[in-house]
Amino acid sequence: MDYCLSKDDIEILQAYVFTQELEVCGYFDVVDNILGTQELTISHESIKEGIKYEDRQACFSLQTEYMFHTHPPSQMSHPSIEDAKLIIERNIKVSVIATRWGIYTIKKKNKDFLKNLKSSGNYKEYIRFIEDVLNNFTNYQLAFGHPKVLIGLSEPMMVDMLNRINSAEKDLQISFHKWDDLIQKEEVRKFKRKKLA
Ligand SMILES: [Zn+2]
Repeated sequence: MDYCLSKDDIEILQAYVFTQELEVCGYFDVVDNILGTQELTISHESIKEGIKYEDRQACFSLQTEYMFHTHPPSQMSHPSIEDAKLIIERNIKVSVIATRWGIYTIKKKNKDFLKNLKSSGNYKEYIRFIEDVLNNFTNYQLAFGHPKVLIGLSEPMMVDMLNRINSAEKDLQISFHKWDDLIQKEEVRKFKRKKLA
């Protein structure tokens, strides 16, 4: 399944990243469109601003399996291991994470993913693997971090690290789009909605 977000919602997420000092989180309403893509729309009533890191689960709602949160510039510009574990362990299909570099979309493609991981005995190993890959992101960011743009972690490196995660388990897939690609391209202005994954 593919998902898309409106340009307005992308701009809302971007504004939260760069204007709020703490995380903002909430969930999406979901509508199927005729192209077989699901349109995610921010549920404004669900938005919680200024939450603390530990309160993330307060943003998870039983009303939807599609959630988002932001990482302000004081946080890492990539998903955390807790972000990965939340989608693996909870009843969440899609987790959108807006950071200063851009938007990550983590998709769980099989609701039995956790059960399957545990029954195959690979759970701990898989979590350690994800943590290793994410630590690579952190190392690059600490070495070359910049408040607003993706520097140091080149796009081939980003693609390579995401590919490592995506090839490990097909039921958990992650994609990334830079803000420039989401906001400034003509196609976004023209079509108003942007495919996330
Ligand atoms: Zn996070």
